[in-house]
Amino acid sequence: AAMVGRRIRSKRRWRKVVRVLEEMEESCSTSVGRLRQVVDAMAVEMHAGLASEGGSKLKMLLTFVDNLPNGSEKGMYYALDLGSTNFRVLRVQLGGQRSAIVGHNVDWQPIPQHLKTSTSEELFDFIVSSLKGFVERHDNVADVSQTKRRELGFTFSFPVKQTSILSGTLIHWTKGFAIEDMVGKDVSECLQQAMTKRGLDVRVVALLNDSVGTLALGHYHDEDTVAAVIIGTGSNACYVERADAIIKCQGLLTTSGCMVVNMEWGNFWSSHLPRTSYDIDLDADSNNPHEQGFEKMVSEMYLGEIVRRVILKMSQESEILGPISSKLSTPFVLRTPLMFAMHEDDSPDLREVLRILEESLEIPDVPLKVRKLFVKVCDVVTRRAARLVAAGIVGILKKIGRDGSGGITSGRIKGGSHSKMRRSVVAIEGSLYTSYGMFREYLNEAVTEILGEDVSPYVILKVMEDGSGVGAALLAAASHSASSVDMV
Ligand code: BGC
Ligand code: MG
Repeated sequence: AAMVGRRIRSKRRWRKVVRVLEEMEESCSTSVGRLRQVVDAMAVEMHAGLASEGGSKLKMLLTFVDNLPNGSEKGMYYALDLGSTNFRVLRVQLGGQRSAIVGHNVDWQPIPQHLKTSTSEELFDFIVSSLKGFVERHDNVADVSQTKRRELGFTFSFPVKQTSILSGTLIHWTKGFAIEDMVGKDVSECLQQAMTKRGLDVRVVALLNDSVGTLALGHYHDEDTVAAVIIGTGSNACYVERADAIIKCQGLLTTSGCMVVNMEWGNFWSSHLPRTSYDIDLDADSNNPHEQGFEKMVSEMYLGEIVRRVILKMSQESEILGPISSKLSTPFVLRTPLMFAMHEDDSPDLREVLRILEESLEIPDVPLKVRKLFVKVCDVVTRRAARLVAAGIVGILKKIGRDGSGGITSGRIKGGSHSKMRRSVVAIEGSLYTSYGMFREYLNEAVTEILGEDVSPYVILKVMEDGSGVGAALLAAASHSASSVDMV
């Protein structure tokens, strides 16, 4: 009788766990119908954000980039890339011919956790000391003459209100950074001051978002590049907009008639997004509640954490995992790369999953059938993220009339006459897309699903490795020469 009792209890627990999964799957649903609603919402919010300041959760920030690189950029530039887990310093030698990036040195370093919540002075001191070391190691005398100073492009991947190509103030932090005194300050000036203080003779000539750097590199390689997307620690997108469509900034003069707009889509919100109780709790517990709602569903910083919350819930509901380990209750212990590893474990007995559960979450001996459920959780979370990003991309294409919704013969080719639909290239950077095969497949698949078989061949997603770094060097070069041509 005792054994029968145990079996019944165990069955009941199993049913409870399955129920948690089913509920979560249901609320994460991304049917193509739902995705189309997200596409429309994205396009509508883009319009609203361009119409007036604060008109949408999408900030639609001006970048003052009105010409994109075309391959003629020349010279040696430094670049500094700050905005995710690591910061990087680069030295890029541009040869003046497309794909002739002659030399390219990179140095990267993790940002110590305490600096993310310290003061702007401490953060920039740290960055500049590392930049100085790098410059001293790589500088060669020929680079720097009396007349030519070292020039640097600064990629700063947070929302910035730009006042020119080389200056702008921080609007607020994202991705766990929280340095209060920095908000409202001019970002380039902070860097410039720290360099001067340390006697480092380098001039900031461009300030840009990582998405804009990625667009620049994309355009350098392929002039049909119209937008760029970042899906790394955080998420964002930018694209080429007509200056006259930027209504909130009337009379905007640009040499090309266009300007790159930094959407800050991490803050996108729509009631059509498939949100769960886990998302709501994660947001409430974050240091920026009610902000970056889209980012919290799609980017690397958060995916593992969503999965941890679901596993915790399963374990609370069912006692199937025994007493709840303190690790499992610790926010962010299940880092996204560990989640990938669980998701991509293709051993028949899910050995890797077992190991990660044991080592990282301190839950030993999880039975195989429960491990399978956990893998399913990883899948649901990953798939939702990838499909939402796909919808966002199509939303941008829709806004600029490149989603084929006007029929595939309605697009216009440069030079006039109505002709075939144009190729649209979207440059992508970020660990989720570049190093997570399942994510990439889901994303590509969803783009095709939304656009349909006729249109999707005209939309090309291209990985731009190092876009945020090399792109900064390219824009530094473009900002001081008039070598670029019209963007469209
Ligand atoms: C920031 C963006 C950035 C994105 C990707 C977001 O949190 O707000 O400015 O482009 O992360 O790095
Ligand atoms: Mg980056």
